[in-house]
Amino acid sequence: MLKIRSFKKGGIHPHARKSLSDTAKIQNLPKPEIIIIPMSQHLGAPAVVCVKKGDIVSAGQKVGSGESFISADVHSSVYGTVQDIQPIVLSNGIETNAVFIETDDISEPQTEFTYIDKDILERSTPQELLKIIKDAGIVGMGGAAFPAHVKFNIPKGKQAEYLVINGVECEPYLTADHRLMLENTEEILVGISVISKIIGAGKIIIGIEANKMNATRKFEQVIEEKRLPIKIQPLRVKYPQGDEKQLLKAVIGREVPSGGLPIEIGAIVSNVGTAYAIYEAVTKRKPVIDRVVTISGNAIKNPGNFRALVGTPIKVLIDAAGGFQEEPAKIVAGGPMMGFAFFNLEAPLTKGMSGILALTKSDLDFSSETACISCGKCVTVCPMGLQPTRLFRFINNSKFSDAMSLNLMDCKECGCCSYSCPAKIPLVHGFKYGKKMARK
Ligand code: SF4
Ligand code: SF4
Repeated sequence: MLKIRSFKKGGIHPHARKSLSDTAKIQNLPKPEIIIIPMSQHLGAPAVVCVKKGDIVSAGQKVGSGESFISADVHSSVYGTVQDIQPIVLSNGIETNAVFIETDDISEPQTEFTYIDKDILERSTPQELLKIIKDAGIVGMGGAAFPAHVKFNIPKGKQAEYLVINGVECEPYLTADHRLMLENTEEILVGISVISKIIGAGKIIIGIEANKMNATRKFEQVIEEKRLPIKIQPLRVKYPQGDEKQLLKAVIGREVPSGGLPIEIGAIVSNVGTAYAIYEAVTKRKPVIDRVVTISGNAIKNPGNFRALVGTPIKVLIDAAGGFQEEPAKIVAGGPMMGFAFFNLEAPLTKGMSGILALTKSDLDFSSETACISCGKCVTVCPMGLQPTRLFRFINNSKFSDAMSLNLMDCKECGCCSYSCPAKIPLVHGFKYGKKMARK
């Protein structure tokens, strides 16, 4: 095992709260009666609906076509009838068209993706594998939801020396990746081999934080048995180490330039959940129609990890975890640091959603905002080396170009500054607003 490492600049140690669900094995959830497939589940242009009301669709059939350069196909996760096509609002506030499908279990033909094509990796070219990934609608499953076929299409003149696999899962509460690493280790390793063949990376490293040593040991055991050319890099527990830039600093010691991409320093980063989805796409020809999601928080009766169909209403997921044991004060899609607060429980599970958290009043800090005391804590914890207090002042005074000149666009919206601010100034909300205005 390599020596434990981490990124140096900034970062925080929020209470992990992972013990609520980190020993809960992944449970498969049954199909709900209605599935809602949104056209915008990824970064880039929304997919275009390619079915109509009344159509009968099968599980894995394309219902939305990603027609722009940065976009992704979306697929039905059940056999059933298209009941409606109408706009919905997702848990992240995005309004998008969605296909509503009524599940039909009775007339469903055998569409389980059970056949495993074991030799496909050996006999396929990188271009053929990339095409399978595109057709399966694979996006970054760690939350970023960037279309995988775009990321793995290395631009001419660039070379991917490193493939760094993200097994960090540094957000509090979330344990979906942890369980996936423990329960689907071999499948993730197949997915990693597929990515490696596509991008031609010579060095493959999986970064895992030290609070998941059982996953590290499991990977090491399988890697040794199969004699795979893959290393594990244990990482000190620190937020936001799961961010691509911090992960690359920690694992390979290289810094992505401001406004740049990892490929500029010879690296591609991919999440363990994405590697698993790639395994399913390549060996079973199964598009992204389900994912593992953590349902947790002190308001949830039985926190756990669930494999659920994309398009399952969030209410169904919460019911599967026993429902609320007390009134939630806040419901969050994703982790508490970078997730989105929402209240519409009819919104569906999307490809990039790794967790749903129901938090109680005692989990939240309701103290009110006071004036900045110039303590500098926000500067100390910023992993991007920004000056949050000055940025916030510029944005408050609508001086967006001044904020841009202080590298506002480099802000990862990680929330380290807001979390550490004793004056409870909503810094990260200000930066989200400032970026929106600066883009305008
Ligand atoms: S939210 Fe932005 S400014 Fe605040 S710590 Fe993170 S990167 Fe720095
Ligand atoms: S952490 Fe809060 S109080 Fe301290 S300097 Fe930054 S904005 Fe001001």
